[in-house]
Amino acid sequence: MDELALLIRADTPDLNARMAETADRVKSRVYGNRVVVFAPLYLANQCVNACVYCGFRNTNQAIERVVLNQEEIRREGEVLAGTGHRRVTAVLGEHPDTDVDYLIQSLQTLYGVKIRTKTGRTANIRRISVTAPPFNMEELARLRNAEIGAYQIFQETYHRPTYDRLHPRSTPKHDYRWRLYAHHRALASGLQDVGLGALFGLYDWRFEAMGLLAHVRELERRFKTGPHNISVPRLEPALNTPFADHSRYKLSDAAFKRVLTLLRLAVPYSGLIVTARESAALRNEALELGATQMDASSRCGVGAYANPPQPGEGERRQQFRLADDRSLPQFVAALLEKGRLPSFCTAGFRCGRTGQCFTERRQYGLEGPFCGLNAVLTFREWVDDFAPAELRAPAAGAIGQEIQRIQDHMPQFYPVFKSVYDRLQNGEGDLYF
Ligand code: SF4
Repeated sequence: MDELALLIRADTPDLNARMAETADRVKSRVYGNRVVVFAPLYLANQCVNACVYCGFRNTNQAIERVVLNQEEIRREGEVLAGTGHRRVTAVLGEHPDTDVDYLIQSLQTLYGVKIRTKTGRTANIRRISVTAPPFNMEELARLRNAEIGAYQIFQETYHRPTYDRLHPRSTPKHDYRWRLYAHHRALASGLQDVGLGALFGLYDWRFEAMGLLAHVRELERRFKTGPHNISVPRLEPALNTPFADHSRYKLSDAAFKRVLTLLRLAVPYSGLIVTARESAALRNEALELGATQMDASSRCGVGAYANPPQPGEGERRQQFRLADDRSLPQFVAALLEKGRLPSFCTAGFRCGRTGQCFTERRQYGLEGPFCGLNAVLTFREWVDDFAPAELRAPAAGAIGQEIQRIQDHMPQFYPVFKSVYDRLQNGEGDLYF
């Protein structure tokens, strides 16, 4: 905490450049050059809360309320699986109509989606994280059996007076401590992976960064595991939501980049998520500041994958506006141009490299080799099944380089990797270490 406070104060161009360089080096050491790709999936926008910065707040009459039924969820899943997404983050507000049973049923529906690809493989969604309300212990125990990835809850702001002001007293979310200890309850109930975040722009970013790190250290102390990932969303404009346009704490691009850098240095083992709220240009820069996970081809309107909104219609179903509307192939092309390898891997969750095991393996650099191998396998599968013709040559180049790197730097893994890679080339799918 002391070191982060010092780094926050060390704000000169020279020091910022050195910190950014170090963050990139740390990211490369822990995560290699891969970027994990996922898609958000909004299941419903009903909410009993009235967070003043959110388009989904219950007082916002301009929003069209939608709760997807299981058939609609299946169709959303088919669109995502049919473009090659393997990791999805399901998102929903807090409402009795979308309780934990609805969430679990929706996850089962999504896991049941299977698409036949042009190579004859099966495309499916392999792991779903959830961004959900704070549940109680009994609800969490039920969710534990639903095979989720990470259970993500963002504190929004760690600054108590601001939190109290932005979350009306009459709503459940007003209870700061109930939300703050949601991750404790999740880990105590047996869930393995949690995700933290703050909504940058509600209060001073320096305080939020310190709050996030305090939260991380507390989880490490109590559970010997930190967050699987940390999200750094910035406040974005939303329909009929004036607060989002006028907050005095809106984060500049320069400050946003410092937040990324500082969190990368402070928590080297956690995934750092930068979403399509940010522009393509800024996300490209974020790749060099420690970001490890990004969404692509995202739609944040409810039901918007299967039923894309007509012009002018979209905002009525979505929480905020997205700035990066690149398709998945466009996003992949941009990663390759930056020398990054897209990864569709979900192996860690599925092989039990989660929780304390995940934290320790990342802290000691033991997970990286698996991730590198799995990135090649899952990207190769995506290229075979989904890549447009113009992406095939750059993708083959990137995969070739990565295989050479495995051969040169990880010779002990190469024979077994090569045998699995050959099986993939012969038409098998969903292979991983
Ligand atoms: S931020 Fe979440 S809890 Fe608050 S109104 Fe929006 S959807 Fe509901």
